[in-house]
Amino acid sequence: MSSSRKAIIIGAGPAGLSAALRLHQTTNIKPVIYELRPEPTTLGGAIGIPSNGLRLLDRLGVYDALLKRGSSHSGFAMYSLTRGRLGGLEDFVAHARAETGYGYMRVKRVDVVDVLLDAVQKAEIPVYFGRKLVGVLDGEDKVGVSAQFEDGSTDNADILLGCDGIHSAVRRMYVDPDQKPEYSGLSGMFSIIPASRLSESATRQMTGLSVTLTEQGIFMAAPCTAGKDEIYWGFQREIPVPDTQHSRDGWEVRGRQEVDGFRDNLHETLANGQGDWIDTLRQLVDATNVIKLYPIYRLPLGGTWSRGRCLLLGDAAHATQPHAGQGVSLALEDVFLICRLLADPTRSIEEAYASFHRIRSPRVAEIHQTAARNGAVRKNAGPFGQWLKETALWLALSVPSGLGIGDRLLGQKHSTYDIEEEEILNISHGSF
Ligand SMILES: Cc1cc2nc3c(=O)[nH]c(=O)nc-3n(C[C@H](O)[C@H](O)[C@H](O)COP(=O)(O)OP(=O)(O)OC[C@H]3O[C@@H](n4cnc5c(N)ncnc54)[C@H](O)[C@@H]3O)c2cc1C
Repeated sequence: MSSSRKAIIIGAGPAGLSAALRLHQTTNIKPVIYELRPEPTTLGGAIGIPSNGLRLLDRLGVYDALLKRGSSHSGFAMYSLTRGRLGGLEDFVAHARAETGYGYMRVKRVDVVDVLLDAVQKAEIPVYFGRKLVGVLDGEDKVGVSAQFEDGSTDNADILLGCDGIHSAVRRMYVDPDQKPEYSGLSGMFSIIPASRLSESATRQMTGLSVTLTEQGIFMAAPCTAGKDEIYWGFQREIPVPDTQHSRDGWEVRGRQEVDGFRDNLHETLANGQGDWIDTLRQLVDATNVIKLYPIYRLPLGGTWSRGRCLLLGDAAHATQPHAGQGVSLALEDVFLICRLLADPTRSIEEAYASFHRIRSPRVAEIHQTAARNGAVRKNAGPFGQWLKETALWLALSVPSGLGIGDRLLGQKHSTYDIEEEEILNISHGSF
């Protein structure tokens, strides 16, 4: 291999931008990013980033900028629609904070992308917007890999990183065409609203993540800016796949129905609830003008992540359903590991990709399973099933809290993990 190598990165989401930044910081590989959208996207809700992800964002040099944008409020409260507050914690990440020095942040996805893009641009890494990848030519030999874009342009490099999300074109067209996203059975709607539309007492109740259980699904609400002036809220529930031949059209029709009727439907869901907190949820619903339905998809475990000179990172490789809150952090872990592996010019690309798969697979599988388990709480329940679910959660919250270990719940094990501590072994010498 020549001493200076080049990487094409497809996708300017969290995985693609952080991969470019870390390659620039720690390797001799020159990254160039291609993004489908014509400009940085304003789409997306607010993402919860636990301490394992925050630590990596700090190592990337963007944590301080994010701290000025996102909410670090780390209270947790769980409510029942009919039984009031089931339990909670003043600081639900106290254990991870003590172990790692980092807490938890709820931040708008657009702010994460903006801060990373700013750092990428300061590092003078080229980013091309409005470039949709439509083809990959990879000789799987010493020649390199070529990316073809919809506008007819092409680019060549030593490696190509597919950071193009759950519906990845790199995966679909080249790396693993058989791997297809599957519907989780759950759909959600979300919005971000100015806190000024709520009463003062409602805003005071927003001390972090609040979750409310109903028979039809789960409400969640959290501040998502440092000044607590914007509130993210969402409602997730079980929705069957629309009964049409073309599920995309079916989802569009279903989405329109849900969006048109969201206020009435949610007020009906909240009808039996009482108390200040339920009034706050009603205020959130009334204060919302724009909302979107999104069916939640995930990738089944067991896919292939690399072929030839191409490697998938982040959601393109292993999108889990979002119920472990680890999507962005998993993408960052991928980035840190692959950059460490590629930083050594004596290690072949083949070896680097094989080590990446070996080290990442167990962690991805564990988080995939945690997310699926957590998601199940959102499934419909009759009155007795709901009572059982709430009682189990009340016990799960109150017994460890009584023992003083409540802050070890809620995914703390995943949040203290440090990818930089993974041992890297040399396997064998590959061919390119
Ligand atoms: C409802 C919901 C809630 C979530 N909550 C959380 C949470 O609380 N915490 C958390 O950590 N994660 C959460 N996630 C997951 C998180 O959003 C993802 O894990 C994360 O965005 C993955 O980043 P990525 O860069 O791999 O992919 P993406 O963010 O999907 O970015 C992919 C990029 O590639 C571009 N692209 C796609 N196709 C092409 C192409 N052909 N050519 C060029 N560019 C292309 C896209 O435009 C996009 O910019 C949530 C996800 C959902 C759906």
